[in-house]
Amino acid sequence: MSSSSGKNNIKISGRFAVFLAVALAVIAFLTVMIIIVSKKDAPAPGPTEGPVIITSPTAEITPTADVATPTEEPTPTLAPTEIPTEVPTPTPTEVPTPEPTPEPTPTEAPPTTAHPTPPRVVDGNTSANPAYEGKRLVALTFDDGPQAGSTEYMLDVLKKHNAKATFFVVGNQMAYEPNGVLTTRAAAEGHQIGNHSYSHPNFGKLTDEQIIEQRDKNNALIMKLTGKPATVFRVPGGQRSAHMRSLLAMPIAQWDIDPLDWQFFTTEHITKYAKQNGMSYDEAESRLIDMILFEGVYTTLDGEYIFSPPVAGEMKHGSILLFHDIYPASAKAVDRLLTYLEETYGNFVYLTFDEFILSENEAIIPGTIYYNLWRTTPSS
Ligand SMILES: [Zn+2]
Repeated sequence: MSSSSGKNNIKISGRFAVFLAVALAVIAFLTVMIIIVSKKDAPAPGPTEGPVIITSPTAEITPTADVATPTEEPTPTLAPTEIPTEVPTPTPTEVPTPEPTPEPTPTEAPPTTAHPTPPRVVDGNTSANPAYEGKRLVALTFDDGPQAGSTEYMLDVLKKHNAKATFFVVGNQMAYEPNGVLTTRAAAEGHQIGNHSYSHPNFGKLTDEQIIEQRDKNNALIMKLTGKPATVFRVPGGQRSAHMRSLLAMPIAQWDIDPLDWQFFTTEHITKYAKQNGMSYDEAESRLIDMILFEGVYTTLDGEYIFSPPVAGEMKHGSILLFHDIYPASAKAVDRLLTYLEETYGNFVYLTFDEFILSENEAIIPGTIYYNLWRTTPSS
């Protein structure tokens, strides 16, 4: 039994050995299969994984989905020296420029290099009035004076260029100078005297009675000095509500070109600019005038850079410019601007506000705001 049982044992172990062999073979087979399959799934090593080789220096690198090419965004650079080819149309109605209350600090872009190509005049239109055929009519306006020294300088510049303008005078400024001589002179030389309030308060904070008083007190003084009533008003601080307009009951002159002289041409700013750039005061003043007129400047508002295009490139038929005759640099800037326009175009004519509006048969209506020759906010 034992032998038979021993034979059986041998038989069993023989079968087991066969079973084991088969099992091992199957396991081996499966292992091989798994290896093959897993190798197929694995990314095939090849040129797609390698670095991108630019065979030719002119070959364009076109980033594909497979090759992750970091798209390097060019860092935006402020290029203040460049005159923009497309000069943006001014939108004076949307953002009224604050009056010379020195709130935001101007931070013009870093000093620029050479004088760039001359700016272009935006609009080639000329007057529809046969009396001004082929001419571009412009209204130069001056606020916040008169100021001894700078107003005289401005009057001299206007005379030199045979230009008429409108002075929006402040009552107590006239009261400071002896006998209001500058206002009298301005009127005598053919300029229009507009009303810019008696003491230049923020009209947004006045009562109706105070507004009327500011208007009437200054009108009386203008009448006394010039023999003529003021026929146009400019609101200090740019307040333009319908209520304000009806209250003032005078035509209101705004502007569509603001040279930012109230920011850039103050003595403080010119002095600071001179110091920063190692220039004399005169050099700094001259440099700033060039930037304003021919290059454009950056200002900052809430940390954002805002580009103000060059004034000479914005000049067009029908524009109203806002300057201030309280800065000598503004007089120099007007001299340089008018000289440039004479030499370059030769067809700009500078009229008083009333002459300017009436030149194209536009009506001068109380309670209406004029931004330029055609753009108005009607009285309500
Ligand atoms: Zn003002």
